[in-house]
This record gives sequence, C-alpha cells and structure tokens, in this order.
Amino acid sequence: MADLVAFVYMGGEEYKWVFFEVYDRVKSYLRDIDLPVIPVYGGHIKLPPGTLVQVRTENGIVKMYSFEAVVEALYGRLVEMRNDVNDESITKIFGLTTYPIGSRKEYFDIYKKYLGLQVSIANYHVLALSIKPFHTENRELFVERVFKGVLHELGHLYGLSHCKNDCVMNPPSDLKDWDLRAPTFCSNCLRELKERFKPKLQL
Ligand SMILES: [Zn+2]
Ligand SMILES: [Zn+2]
Repeated sequence: MADLVAFVYMGGEEYKWVFFEVYDRVKSYLRDIDLPVIPVYGGHIKLPPGTLVQVRTENGIVKMYSFEAVVEALYGRLVEMRNDVNDESITKIFGLTTYPIGSRKEYFDIYKKYLGLQVSIANYHVLALSIKPFHTENRELFVERVFKGVLHELGHLYGLSHCKNDCVMNPPSDLKDWDLRAPTFCSNCLRELKERFKPKLQL
C-alpha cells in the first residue's frame, strides 16, 4: 500500500510557483523510482502575521517563522485533512515555507535558524523546509535546489542517514556544493529506501 504525504505551501504568493513546480517534480520522481510514496496536495496555509518574527543577526534583520507556529499549523492541517476525507491513512505532512524557521532559545533573545525540520507527534510526522534560502534568479536552478531539499527530508523521514556519495542525502557545505549534487538518491540510498517498503514475511 502506498504511503501518502500531504504537501502544503506556507507563505505569501511570491514563491507559490516554486512550490507547485517542486511538488510536481517530486511526484513524478517518486513514480519514476517506483517508490510507493504519493504526494497529495494539502492546500495553502497563510500564517498569521504574529508568526513572523524579526530577528537581529550579524547580517541585519532577518524574518523567520516561529518553529512552534509552523509545527502547530501543519499538525492542525493534518488532523483537518484526516477528518475531511475520513481517511486515517494520512499521517505525514510536509510544509514548504517561504521564510526560514526559527525557534527562540530559552532566556535569551537568540533564535536558532532552521532550513528544515522534522517533528514526530505520536504517529504523526510533521516536516518543513524553507524556500527563500535557496533563492537564485535562475528559476530552473531555484526549483532544483528546493527539490533536492525535499528529497533530503523525505529520505530522513523514511530512515536514511547522511551519505557520502553524489546523492541528495550528502549534506552540502554551501549552496555551490548543493548545486553540484546529483538531483537523486544514490543507488545505496535507493536500495535502503526500497527495503523499507518491502512487505515483511509474517511467520
Ligand atoms: Zn540531513
Ligand atoms: Zn546516498
């Protein structure tokens, strides 16, 4: 049986096109590699203005979404989707946010910045990746960078660790490095992924 992952766009209109191009590409990639994971569209969440925090950094003011608000909104949407279609099979939701995600450290006004996040709540899985840090004027490259990021997070979701090959599971040191990475799982990672979906023999 296929595993469903709800994909949600979070933010203003500006990167909606990136979301849809990435979503389509992920969908056809998973079909091409014959992995029983099917992305379903989970809608557009506009986060309330209060969830955008302005953080002072060495490079000036940076806008971020609060970690807690993003997780809460995605979790809420997942529960909504399950109720709507009366479908118990959706347990995973992946949000693509425009701005990076930050969480406030206890006691200090310091934010830790996240490119992506993964949180498990009981049997539910909430994932998010921010789009803006991948920005370039080259639209094709922009989409490819985010696409690789989504594959990387999906890889973790299904149990993959980081990898040393020319592979999306090999974390980059910077964007230039990321651009050199092949937009695919290497054969080792792919084998490991497929292993997870093999029906287990019940004796
Ligand atoms: Zn990673
Ligand atoms: Zn790999």
